[in-house]
Amino acid sequence: MVATVIPVDPFDLVIFGGTGDLARRKILPALYRRLRAGQMPKNAHVVGVGRKVLPTEAYRQIAASAIREFVRREEQDAGSLDDFLRCLTYRNVDVRGREGWSELRELMCTDHVRVFYFSVAPSLFSILSERTHDEDLATPDCRIVVEKPFGHDFASARTLNTEMAATFDEHQIYRIDHYLGKETVQNLMALRFGNALFEPVWNSQFVDNVQITVAESIGIGDRGGYYDEAGAMRDMVQNHLMQLLCLTAMEPPAQFDPDAIRDEKLKVIKSLGPVMRKDVVRGQYLKGNGGSGYLEECGNPKSRTETFVALKVQVDNWRWSGTPFYLRTGKRLRSTLTEVSVAFKDPRHWIFDEHGNRKGTNLAIRLQPNEGITMRMTIKDPGPGGMRLKEVPLDMSFADALDEGTLTMPDAYERLIMDVVRGNQTLFMRGDEVEAAWSWVDPIILRWSQDGSVIHEYEPGTVGPIESLFLLHRDSRYWREI
Ligand code: NAD
Repeated sequence: MVATVIPVDPFDLVIFGGTGDLARRKILPALYRRLRAGQMPKNAHVVGVGRKVLPTEAYRQIAASAIREFVRREEQDAGSLDDFLRCLTYRNVDVRGREGWSELRELMCTDHVRVFYFSVAPSLFSILSERTHDEDLATPDCRIVVEKPFGHDFASARTLNTEMAATFDEHQIYRIDHYLGKETVQNLMALRFGNALFEPVWNSQFVDNVQITVAESIGIGDRGGYYDEAGAMRDMVQNHLMQLLCLTAMEPPAQFDPDAIRDEKLKVIKSLGPVMRKDVVRGQYLKGNGGSGYLEECGNPKSRTETFVALKVQVDNWRWSGTPFYLRTGKRLRSTLTEVSVAFKDPRHWIFDEHGNRKGTNLAIRLQPNEGITMRMTIKDPGPGGMRLKEVPLDMSFADALDEGTLTMPDAYERLIMDVVRGNQTLFMRGDEVEAAWSWVDPIILRWSQDGSVIHEYEPGTVGPIESLFLLHRDSRYWREI
C-alpha cells in the first residue's frame, strides 16, 4: 500500500542558512524526496541563501552530495536528482546587510506560494523578519518557518514573538518542532479520536499513569557550546516532551482544525501544576562506555548543566487530576527510543485466583525506533492447568502494517515543509503555546540556579541516575524498560 500523494501548488522557498547543517541534513533531502514522490512540482523554486559567495552550480553540488549522503540509496535516482537540482538557485546575502536583496527579490515568482525558511541562528530571526519586509520580499500570504530553539526562556520567547508580530501575522508563522511531524505523533490523535475504544477510558478513572520517554544513546557530540547553555530541560522538555504531553492529555478538539487543536494543547500547558523539588531528578553523564564524560565534552569542567531530567507532573484538570505524568529524557542512555506509554489501572473487581500477580493493560506508542503501537493485554495462558493469566503484546509496526508504503513514508521534515506550502498550521506551535511552555519550565530552571540542587551522575549506557528510578518506586510504580 503506497501513500496517496497530493501535489502541492508551485512554490518559491528561500532557505536562509541554505548551506548550513540543517539544510544539508534535513531540508534539502526532504525536498528531494517530495519531488521524487511527485508532491513537490518540478517548477517549484528553492533558493539557498548563505554568507558564502558561491555560484549556483557549486550550491547544486553541495545539495547533490547532501542527498547522496542523507537519502537512502534505494530512494535516489539520477533523473529525479537532476530535476531537483534544476529547482535550486543560490544567492549570497548577509542578512544583516543591505546587499543582494534586490537580486533575491527578482528571483521570486508572483504567482507562487512564498516561503522563507529561517534556518539560521535565532539571533538573526528579528533582523530577518525586518529585512524580508523592508526589502519587499514578504507578501500578505507568504509564510516564514522558524527553527527551534524558540527563545531561551519566557522573556526571550516573548521578545521574539513580539518582534516577528511586528512584520508577520500569527497565521504566517510556522514554528517547527520536528517531533510534531512524526507519523506516530499524528497517530496519537488518530488513535484517540478515530477509535471509540480509547476515549471513554482516557482519564484518571482508568489510567494509572502516563510515561513519556525520549532517550538517546548519543552524547552531545560537537554541540557542546549550545548544549551547555541549554541542557535537557530547555533542549527537550520545553518543546518535544511538552508537545507529546499535550497531545496525550488534551481534550478532543471540536474539529480537526489548527486553532482548535492548538487551543486544546494550550489548555493542557496551562493546567500543569508547579513541579515540587522532590519531583525532579536531574543528571549528568560520566565518562565510560568508550566515550568521554559530559564535563569533558562540553569543555566546562564546572558545568551544572543537566544531560538527563526526569519529572513527575500533575495535569490539574477534570480529566487527569490524580494521574501522574512521568517525563524523562537523557543523553548517553542505554538506547535511543521515544515513547508514550499509558498504564491502565487494574480492573476494579478481580475475579481470578491469581491474586498476587495482577496484570494491567498497557498501551505504548513508539515514535522511534520502528514507529508503531504496542498494546499489552492480559489473556489466559493456553493449555490445561487452570485459569493462569499471561501478558502478551499486540504489536503493530507501521512499517509492517503499511508494507511497501514504508519506502515512501515521509519523514517529519517532508511532512512539515509540505504543510507550510499548503498553509496548514496544525503541526506547528503557536506563539502563546511556546510562551506558556516556557512559563512552566522557567521556575524549575530558576530553582536549580538558586538552590544549588544536586546533579546526579550516571554511567553511560544505563537508564540514567538511580534517583530517577526512586521517583517512581516511591509511588509503587516502575518505568518502562528502555
Ligand atoms: P549552521 O551553523 O550549520 O549553518 C548556519 C547557516 O546560516 C549557514 O548557511 C550560514 O551561511 C548562514 N548564516 C549565518 N550567518 C548569516 C548571515 N549573517 N547572513 C546570511 N546567512 C548566514 O547552523 P544549522 O545547524 O544549520 O542550524 C540552523 C538553525 O536551525 C539554528 O537556529 C539551529 O538552532 C536550528 N536547528 C538545527 C538543527 C540541526 O540539526 N542542525 C536541529 C534543530 C534546529
